[in-house]
Amino acid sequence: MRKRRVTLLGSTGSIGASAIKVAETMPDRMEIVGMAAKRSSASLAEAANRLRPEAVCIVDPGSLDDLRRALNYEPIVFVGEEGLIELSTLAGSDLVLVAIVGTAGLRPALAAIDCGKDLAVASKEILVMAGEIVMTHANNKGVLVLPVDSEHNAIFQCLEGKRSEQIENLILTASGGPFRRLPADQLNNVTKAEALRHPTWKMGQKITIDSATLFNKGLEMIEARWLFNVPMRKVQVLIHPQSIVHSMVEFVDGSILAQLSHSDMCFPIQFAVTWPERVPHSLKPLRLAEVRSLEFEEPRYDVFPALNLARKAGEAGGVLPAILNAANEVAVQAFLDDQIPFPEIWRLVHSAMEYNANLASPSLDDIIRADSEARLFVRRALGNP
Ligand code: MG
Repeated sequence: MRKRRVTLLGSTGSIGASAIKVAETMPDRMEIVGMAAKRSSASLAEAANRLRPEAVCIVDPGSLDDLRRALNYEPIVFVGEEGLIELSTLAGSDLVLVAIVGTAGLRPALAAIDCGKDLAVASKEILVMAGEIVMTHANNKGVLVLPVDSEHNAIFQCLEGKRSEQIENLILTASGGPFRRLPADQLNNVTKAEALRHPTWKMGQKITIDSATLFNKGLEMIEARWLFNVPMRKVQVLIHPQSIVHSMVEFVDGSILAQLSHSDMCFPIQFAVTWPERVPHSLKPLRLAEVRSLEFEEPRYDVFPALNLARKAGEAGGVLPAILNAANEVAVQAFLDDQIPFPEIWRLVHSAMEYNANLASPSLDDIIRADSEARLFVRRALGNP
């Protein structure tokens, strides 16, 4: 029986909270040895005082004093972006769980791979922006990239022991979000509160808006393409409002395998940490007779352009996925700040993809530059550079 020694990047978000819950329910399988947060010093200290990791990191230097005061033991304390890299390369850990929102997890993830640590990826940005670099690095180093995003974790489970040439399609399921059935002409008037009301998953604000625009699924399409090394045309999306089937794989012989469970991030986290074993859980068991029916339908591609924009970015590769991701992040924030109507999110992403030049086989620096330029482009378009 293997015990995983885990560094948790992003310990105060919703994935972080689920990871802590998993660690606390199976202490013989998972020990958190490092924890990082952006600036929530109080919740980082509260969790650290309970789990006693040997090191912690606070990214915002302004929150360092608060963190030190709130800690009731003496872990190694790292600070800043550099601190995040030091924490990710901590000698005592063998798995780094990246659950930081945005692009901040990219360099720490690569640093962890370079030190021979396995990666569990919850932050989509890492694979969306730099999927080719991350996967090539991981393959060269012989480390695992374990998907924690529920859809990719489901596909990972369906693919166990199968060869990639046996894959006909990866089928990512999507709840469809709160506007699944809304007439297209009403999307212009939807409010922030309506967009934040996700029908089946409880998550952070950014990802909840992404679920409403379907950009979340778009990012996941690109993520899947790299994680499982399949061409973009084999990555499909299916609306499934109950969020019970977390994704499926269609094989060349016509069989489809699916993974089902309640929508709780503890399931994929536990699977990633205990893989290749399966261990008894203490989560809510799925009783399909109580769910009664599982529905599926085609996405409305014309109403939610995010999916086609993501397919285009994934097919083109280069820095286009990074441009899509960065433009979307700024546009979502503008929507959350009541600056723009809902459909303006994808209009801005579309413009950013049209106006910023793509670049084949980019380096990490090229990708980060494209990310900054796309952000600047959208800020200018919003009139606040
Ligand atoms: Mg997901």
